[in-house]
Amino acid sequence: MAKESKYYDILGVPQDATEAQLKSAYKKGALKYHPDKNKSPEAEHKFKDLSHAYEVLSDPQRRQIYDQYGEEGLEQGGGGGGGMAAEDLFAQFFGGGGGGFGGMFGGGMTREQGPKKARTIAHVHKVSLEDIYKGKISKLALQKSVICPKCSGLGGKDGAVKKCAGCDGRGMKTMMRQMGPMIQRFQTVCPDCQGEGEIIRDKDRCKQCMGKKTIIERKVLHVHVDKGIKSGSKIEFRGEGDQMPGVEPGDVVFEIEQKPHARFQRKDDDLFYHAEIDLLTALAGGNVHIEHLDERWLTVEIIPGEVIAPGAVKVVRGQGMPSHRHHDFGNLYIQFDVKFPQRLGGPDGASITPQQIAALESVLGPRVQDHIPPPDAMTEDFQLEDVDPTRENARSRGMTAMDEDDDDMHGGAERVQCASQ
Ligand SMILES: [Zn+2]
Ligand SMILES: [Zn+2]
Repeated sequence: MAKESKYYDILGVPQDATEAQLKSAYKKGALKYHPDKNKSPEAEHKFKDLSHAYEVLSDPQRRQIYDQYGEEGLEQGGGGGGGMAAEDLFAQFFGGGGGGFGGMFGGGMTREQGPKKARTIAHVHKVSLEDIYKGKISKLALQKSVICPKCSGLGGKDGAVKKCAGCDGRGMKTMMRQMGPMIQRFQTVCPDCQGEGEIIRDKDRCKQCMGKKTIIERKVLHVHVDKGIKSGSKIEFRGEGDQMPGVEPGDVVFEIEQKPHARFQRKDDDLFYHAEIDLLTALAGGNVHIEHLDERWLTVEIIPGEVIAPGAVKVVRGQGMPSHRHHDFGNLYIQFDVKFPQRLGGPDGASITPQQIAALESVLGPRVQDHIPPPDAMTEDFQLEDVDPTRENARSRGMTAMDEDDDDMHGGAERVQCASQ
């Protein structure tokens, strides 16, 4: 069963609720909490929650993702684009266009004018940098609604599906209610058809789709991840999305999202790499080995005496990403971090000798001194010490304590405000 039940709880339906139950629960709730009708402060919030919960659960894909992965799964681009504003969803149900409920299918309509079209199934396809470098074909399976082949989308035997007489197919009814001396008119879900607008006798109901007109089908799409494709590129499959009776089938759109890479960063067609080298290699040369994205290893030579400064950036031309639809490659930029030794001297902690210092001086040249005091300046001598972490911590602890006091005052002020309301 579902990991999370929040959306079901909001609508007040069980987790195995049918589409009709969802629809009916949404309609009831939406009418009760619509901000135009209900002026209580929580109503607007409830109205939005209801709309969001219904929007998700009425879409078979998104409902499945929600059941499996909860809200988190939906946020990770598991399904459904944009998300519909609560008011738009409401308008689809209760007027707006005057179409009634005849062509309404669980909030899955796009908002554009023109021929009605089922919702676009949007999916973010995460791809590794290796796969973008080499190119690949991803086989992605998708659950979509298709017109029931048994009843051709009628929901039952030909002629067995009747327009509901109680509501004239609208799904909603206007009722009267005596409220003291006043008579109040209000809209309610048609009790005869539970808001469906149609009546199918149980024995005539299609056995394959249970009268829902569509069935869920698994479809595998082959998504071509071209070499060098950019993150954010969209690959579209027109008409491969949900099918609903009386509307154009929806599209499926995959958005390529490049996963972060442990070694390389990508900017357009160029790759950036951090190489850590020791001071001796930076000064006296050596080799840097870089594992590329296609199992090759690049050996990059640092020429003795060339000197790599910390933070220096060098380039290897043509070793970046393949450029999409061109036949060349970007560059590989290498930034060097130079790791300095802890200390200088011989092995076993021996101190550096005057001869070693003289050897260093012979290759590095004389010391450069900035800020030389004028000859008549007073000078004092000092020793450098290592930083004592316990002292530093004590200082920062003191500062944190002050911050907390500040917060408490804010908290108190808020409480006072609340109490006076
Ligand atoms: Zn059927
Ligand atoms: Zn009805």
